[in-house]
Amino acid sequence: MHMSVQTHYQAELDAGRFCLQHCPQCQQHVFTPRELCPHCGASPLRWVGASGLGTVYSTSTISRKQDAGGNYNVALIDLDEGVRMMSRVEGLAPEAVRIGLRVQAQVVHKDGRGLVLFQPAQEKGAPA
Ligand SMILES: [Zn+2]
Repeated sequence: MHMSVQTHYQAELDAGRFCLQHCPQCQQHVFTPRELCPHCGASPLRWVGASGLGTVYSTSTISRKQDAGGNYNVALIDLDEGVRMMSRVEGLAPEAVRIGLRVQAQVVHKDGRGLVLFQPAQEKGAPA
């Protein structure tokens, strides 16, 4: 049975794995999941585990009532693999998230479904 790429992506997340696609022809990573490489048209794309490391490209604070959970962050994250995704940065106040902040993905489960959120990265020993 052929599983759609979106279904495959979600099934990996549900199992706690954050995966991206990688094109064996042009060697670029692909996100969001596609049947064909958006760069060169090759197919099929390979599934690879994401490093989960990225940098905040843009950030905004979404207002929400305190009894609904309070304000939260929505950010575009540039993953180190060269793809951009929309997610949320947690672990600090939504308005404290800054462009350029290094972040680390984690898969969390909400209502039985896996979902990628980010936290500030704990990187050490990076050469200057
Ligand atoms: Zn390609």
